[in-house]
Amino acid sequence: MLMVSAPIVGIPEKAALFEVIDSGWLTMGDRVQEFEEAFANLHGAEDSVAVSSCTAALHLILHALGIGPGDEVLVPALTFVATANAVLYVNATPVFVDIESMDVPLMSIAEAEALCTPRTKAVILVHFAGYLPDREAWQAFAARRGLLLIEDAAHAPGLKEVGTYGVAAAFSFYGNKNMTTAEGGAVIARDRALRDRIRLARGHGMSSGTHQRLNSRTPTYDVTMLGFNYRLDELRAAIGIVQLRGLPGWNEIRQILVMQYRRLIAQQCPAVAIPFSAPRLSAYHIMPILLPDAAQRQDVIDRLRSQGIQTTIHYPPVHKMTLYRERCPGVHLPKTEAFAQRELTIPLHPDITTKTVEGVVAALADAVGVSQMGMAK
Ligand SMILES: *Cc1c(COP(=O)(O)O)cnc(C)c1O
Repeated sequence: MLMVSAPIVGIPEKAALFEVIDSGWLTMGDRVQEFEEAFANLHGAEDSVAVSSCTAALHLILHALGIGPGDEVLVPALTFVATANAVLYVNATPVFVDIESMDVPLMSIAEAEALCTPRTKAVILVHFAGYLPDREAWQAFAARRGLLLIEDAAHAPGLKEVGTYGVAAAFSFYGNKNMTTAEGGAVIARDRALRDRIRLARGHGMSSGTHQRLNSRTPTYDVTMLGFNYRLDELRAAIGIVQLRGLPGWNEIRQILVMQYRRLIAQQCPAVAIPFSAPRLSAYHIMPILLPDAAQRQDVIDRLRSQGIQTTIHYPPVHKMTLYRERCPGVHLPKTEAFAQRELTIPLHPDITTKTVEGVVAALADAVGVSQMGMAK
């Protein structure tokens, strides 16, 4: 089966894991710090905080900013559920914002503006599929409304611009992301005081960690705040250090494959639309396409699957999930819903060859053609 995404891991990661095991120190230590510095460096930042997931990163950011009960946070609904969940973790209210258009499925500034109230405190931007929103426009909006800008950058690691939009950015190293540590995440926050609060809350608010106490004369510690256990370990950090070396090249391969997909789909399946038709900075995390209205998506999925091609949907809108229908009833986002109904994500990862892309597009043209003619039943 050709998968939508695949981790690129091998001998260097295995060697890095052996080294950690032989070292006798498995939990947060020197390798985590080395990874934090290397990850920050790649993004032109001074430092970063490695954590156990992007979900933890988002929670820590909102927590450290003091966002809480009574506060509203603008979020897209075309995202993974974690973006909105983090808002609920701090007992604030997620306010779902529609996308700009079918071609630009990023949160709409005009819609965001219309949903602002005196309680609105922050916005969480998502670089959907890896494509970056208009930074100057969002910064102007945030300044005008006095809002904190936060990036859920799970789709866009490795770009210098990411992590420069607002107060902080959250990254994911889950197995299907552009780089992976199996599970893992990081925070980039340029303000040192904010970064220190996030680092403290990551480890129970303890004044020193186990590893620091090892090298210190004082084995005691203090707890200065109610924190969490959102630490990363040395095994994951060691994988991350290796992965960071590959990330820039992998992102370039992703771009080349996306350009080829765009060219071939335009030629062979002109009824299929590809979002982000205008050039825009991207980490090319996934390859979303929009099937024609007349096509039956399930038929297309089944036909591609029978050809050994996996597809997925990004995303079933968060406001339509049972949890959010209960917590945030009555939300209607026509553009997000229309997009999510027609969207299909086709395979994109650095192990795919240009020959494979040709095969996927041929299978897609066939599947969409049959489905549109109504012969699929
Ligand atoms: C994957 C993802 C997350 C969650 O990342 P984890 O590291 O699994 O917690 C959050 N937001 C978006 C947009 C994602 O794609």
